[in-house]
Amino acid sequence: MLYMGSRGQGDICIIGVPFDSTASFRPGARFAPNAIREASYCLEMYSPGQDISLEDVSFMDSGDLELPPGDPFPALDMIETEVSTRIKEGKTPFVIGGEHTLSLGSVRAVTKTYPGLKVIQLDAHADLRDKYLGQKLSHATVMKRIIETIGDDCLRQIGIRSFTREESGLVRSLCVDTTGKLLDWAKGGPCYITCDLDILDPSVLPGTGAPEPGGISFNELVNMLLDLIYNLNIVGIDIVELAPNIDVSGSSSVVAAKVVRECLLAIGKKESEKDKKAI
Ligand code: MN
Ligand code: MN
Repeated sequence: MLYMGSRGQGDICIIGVPFDSTASFRPGARFAPNAIREASYCLEMYSPGQDISLEDVSFMDSGDLELPPGDPFPALDMIETEVSTRIKEGKTPFVIGGEHTLSLGSVRAVTKTYPGLKVIQLDAHADLRDKYLGQKLSHATVMKRIIETIGDDCLRQIGIRSFTREESGLVRSLCVDTTGKLLDWAKGGPCYITCDLDILDPSVLPGTGAPEPGGISFNELVNMLLDLIYNLNIVGIDIVELAPNIDVSGSSSVVAAKVVRECLLAIGKKESEKDKKAI
């Protein structure tokens, strides 16, 4: 399987965002989009679990954005513009990070087209600090900035196992413990999934900026994502926080590539079912 082989037209548009300017502990997420493309070589196009192949899915890879290093604000504007452009073309944006801060740019674009957007965050960390090391904008504050944009009744979290006392009140009201609760909450309206790969246990994905022990397995994550994609109206998705340089074995990149494949296939399957109904 090779995502880059599919450049051109497609209903789903992969957007690579090689951005990790606010990484605090271990940088390297900027290398993730290409590492995921490379790792995808070792995966099949066909998913036995979903019984669908990428050959049957209409998707394209628009390559990587060329982002300025340092100050995250202009980078976020560029991400927002690119995601908006792809939505206007009728495509579903599928953003591959990069660090989690980029989700703010992507959500800003998606919520303009889809008012009432609900965001589902899969993550080990709450990312709800008001400031982190004096900065308003970083991977540790990004979800706070997002709820300031869409309202805190439009965000739910799952997988959270690390937060500060300052964040604990918000986490109590936003974090749920089952996928079923997310489905009940988000049913009907447009939804955006932001998947921070550190929701996985570090034994599954050591290659990430801020690994947090006590996470879920690969199958648990994929089952959760497929449940959400099959049962909700997903209008955008991002998958963030792979730092391939940290895992010398390279297997974290393969894990991330397989998560991306399963999501692409699930979104594609859903689209083709919609098309059949329309005929
Ligand atoms: Mn995280
Ligand atoms: Mn995060």
